Amino acid sequence: MDIHLVSSIDSAEFTHLTRALSQSTIIGLDAEWKPLRSQRSTFPTVALLQLACQLGGDSAGWDESVIFLLDLASIPLPSIWELIRDVFVSPDILKLGFKFKQDLIFLSSTFCAQGCNLGFDKVEPYMDITNLYKFLQHKEGNKVSKNTKSLSAVCEEILGLHLSKELQCSDWSERPLTEEQIRYAATDSHCLLGIFKIFEAKVIKEGHLCNNVEEQHQSDISLGLKDILNMSDCENKLVGTKFCNAVDIVQATASSEECERIAKGAQVVRKTKPMDESLWKIVRKYGEKLILRESDRTPKTSRKKGRRRSSVVVVCKEKQLDNYGDWQGPQPWDISLGGDGSPKFLCDVMVEGLAKHLRCVGIDAAIPHSKKPEPRELIDQAYKEKRVLLTRDAKLLRHQYPINNQIYRVNSLLKNEQLLEVIEAFQLKISEDQLMSRCTKCNGRFIQKPLSTEEAIEAAKGFQRIPNCLFDKNLEFWQCKDCNQLYWEGTQYHNAVQKFIDVCKLKE
Ligand SMILES: [Zn+2]
Repeated sequence: MDIHLVSSIDSAEFTHLTRALSQSTIIGLDAEWKPLRSQRSTFPTVALLQLACQLGGDSAGWDESVIFLLDLASIPLPSIWELIRDVFVSPDILKLGFKFKQDLIFLSSTFCAQGCNLGFDKVEPYMDITNLYKFLQHKEGNKVSKNTKSLSAVCEEILGLHLSKELQCSDWSERPLTEEQIRYAATDSHCLLGIFKIFEAKVIKEGHLCNNVEEQHQSDISLGLKDILNMSDCENKLVGTKFCNAVDIVQATASSEECERIAKGAQVVRKTKPMDESLWKIVRKYGEKLILRESDRTPKTSRKKGRRRSSVVVVCKEKQLDNYGDWQGPQPWDISLGGDGSPKFLCDVMVEGLAKHLRCVGIDAAIPHSKKPEPRELIDQAYKEKRVLLTRDAKLLRHQYPINNQIYRVNSLLKNEQLLEVIEAFQLKISEDQLMSRCTKCNGRFIQKPLSTEEAIEAAKGFQRIPNCLFDKNLEFWQCKDCNQLYWEGTQYHNAVQKFIDVCKLKE
């Protein structure tokens, strides 16, 4: 077995890994963690992720495989999160696992704990060894046993290979790993490839793959890339092939300097080689997907115990948050993180009043898309829009996946105090000309040029009444670009400006 232990991203092993991933069409996945002795309200931390890569493509023979052991205890997880996530969802790589959902849950929780916001939520295409085993058994006319066998039992039966179970419960968080641990971990993922190979051979030999797929595929060849992308089934292998061809053509015609640049870019986009024909058919017919749902993300403890424990967790979290005092950056809108530098918040339903106050002082403060958002929706929205989620909801904090550095528990009860708390915690700079520069109704910006009274009356027709008493006052009107609401510099406006000058202590 060709085994590589990857403990840093600045290593030759890591380069080897990324190269192997771009050439793999099948990957056996497994993970190891230190078992938790008692029932806890958290998931165990995954210490090792094994990737047994079956190298595909034209040059590599089908027997070529290489195993990587990713030392998750040493590598900073945010630096490899994207790579792993892309492998998990790449349509060009079939993922094999043995009841991998459990591993995925723990992996996701481990990555989230290190600030990889969303963890992992999908592995596709995926095939589970338990299903392959059932298929193989069934085809041999055996009685399919109801109880799923252990991986070592399956291995013994299918491959005649003995897997020692001794090390399964060893301490995987200890470093350095022993030779035996390394060998054990590698074998566990490598045997998945072996079992798949037997399954594949049988499927092909017995002709389970219908030819319709091929015919349909043939007819696709005349289509352009655009047509293919418009097809409902755009995981088409053809797309991958055509895209790779396009990259090759561009590379071949470009100058050497450009070539290098394109190659670098292509490496990012062209992560993998497309599968070969028969594998692609197998995936279309037997492939499945693993999806993590909200309910999978919290440990299942018995109800009574779970309740008591979770209340303890809340107390701890609150304590911790009180100690935070000030926000500890970087903030998601930070330019170094790809943001635009201007603060953005998402106010949970419990602090909707705070959203209006923030808008009054010119801060971008959105509210949830739906009236009763699920925690997951809130977190997704905050993540996508690079906002800090402001909440008073302790349950959100208890949630297994608070996005790191993107959720803030508001302690104050009153709107004015909440506003001050947020301004102070995030060191927001508020100036007088920022006041009333945003639509308090919808968080939209105003159109650049103020409207005259006549223009405003015209613009307000049908949805907003402008009091007659304003007509002869020669006021300026402002209209929201998004919801069309009109605002004017009346008494209300001046009172509001004064109020926020006081609240934000702008005159001190
Ligand atoms: Zn508006």
